[in-house]
Amino acid sequence: MTELEKQALEMRDQLHRVSPSFCLAKWTQVTLHLHSGLTHSCHHPVPHKIPLEELKGNPSALHNTKHKIERRKQMLAGERPSECDFCWKIEDTGPNQISDRYLKSLDSWSKPHLDRYSQKHLADNPNPSSVEVSFSSKCNFKCAYCAPDISSKWMEETLEFGAYPTHPSFNNLHYFQVTDRLPIPENQANPYVEAFWQWWPELAKELKVFRITGGEPLLSPNTFRVLEELLKTPRPELSLAVNSNLGVPKVLVQKFSTLLQKLEPGINTKDFTLFTSLDSWGKQAEYIRTGLKMDLFLENLHHLLETLPELPIVIMCTFNALSVVGLDRMIDEVAELKARFNNRVSLDIPFLRYPTFFSANILPPEFHSMLENSLRRMRSMPIFWDHEKLKMQRTLEWMKTPLDPQTLTNEREDFYIYFSEFDRRRGTSFLNTFPEMESFWKLCESAHQNTERPPWT
Ligand code: SF4
Repeated sequence: MTELEKQALEMRDQLHRVSPSFCLAKWTQVTLHLHSGLTHSCHHPVPHKIPLEELKGNPSALHNTKHKIERRKQMLAGERPSECDFCWKIEDTGPNQISDRYLKSLDSWSKPHLDRYSQKHLADNPNPSSVEVSFSSKCNFKCAYCAPDISSKWMEETLEFGAYPTHPSFNNLHYFQVTDRLPIPENQANPYVEAFWQWWPELAKELKVFRITGGEPLLSPNTFRVLEELLKTPRPELSLAVNSNLGVPKVLVQKFSTLLQKLEPGINTKDFTLFTSLDSWGKQAEYIRTGLKMDLFLENLHHLLETLPELPIVIMCTFNALSVVGLDRMIDEVAELKARFNNRVSLDIPFLRYPTFFSANILPPEFHSMLENSLRRMRSMPIFWDHEKLKMQRTLEWMKTPLDPQTLTNEREDFYIYFSEFDRRRGTSFLNTFPEMESFWKLCESAHQNTERPPWT
């Protein structure tokens, strides 16, 4: 058993002294989708709407909604909120299975609050210590796995062409309407963002982790306002992180780096990390993330690494069925960046779960061998950290998880439907971009031709 597993099980025992379903993340962590007025704690439960009347006089209701306070009551009483199924399922598979409930409660921003939140002070309005926030859905990209509630470019396309005719339909606006997830238009006042800034002076006092996501955060003036606030009122215990697609005009990246240069680590913030995304390299990466231009991406990346000599940048590769064939090149290119910039660039490889029809586990076994080779390549390079290699290994194991034959055929059919329509709408060509995947494409095409499923209407 690793040290982390041991600590997680000790944390489980401490939580269970309060109740068998107690989880600190319900108090200490929040993800806020301010552009559509949604909140959830932690990021696993489906986000719920923040009632505007609850915000009157209490901006902390961005986190402390009545809905969430009820779930906390349930936890303190030993009941399992159904929205936390992700953890219950893992815990029910065996007595020592480690769920995110133990891990998130163990985190340095959670654990110190164990006594405080077990005291059943339900009327309290706790300020979270870890916050992820999206101020706006404005985005210049429409990545293949994204959605119109997160990207304004996707919204434009969906308004023009409608949903994709997969089973069920992908990015159907009806779903976003009935679940109340549509973003507030950019040209309208956003009461959730206003409440956030009212809350900020109090919130920032105990904040340990703050991550800005989007949309594209560098297209939101609120991102720059956060940096200015930290210059005015330093928060030396705060770890700040920003996600960026690094596909915005250079002038914005320069403005961002100029402000960051003024933030002194250990004074204005504890530290700062930039997260960016790339799921392959070159033309294939540009295909997956529509809007990406590799040249501009690399110019912006180099600019930040050169002007901020301490800055760590994490490249997140949301590993999907289209990532496999370009992975060797990506590993080589990232290794070069690591060598040039003192290993300040790292690679994180989480796998894509949704949409399921282009998860990497729909690929046939010959692609598993390609990924095995890529893993060997990475392992042979000492410049990659152990945790980077471990994440890649987990991705490979997950990719090999078998799907039942009917599900596999259905997913491949939807893969074919989706990327045929994608090419038609975006003027791209799957086969010209991924010639190595031609036989897989034909497999998907024949799944479509032989289907007995009715077409989507
Ligand atoms: S129980 Fe699990 S899903 Fe629920 S808040 Fe805790 S970590 Fe998240």
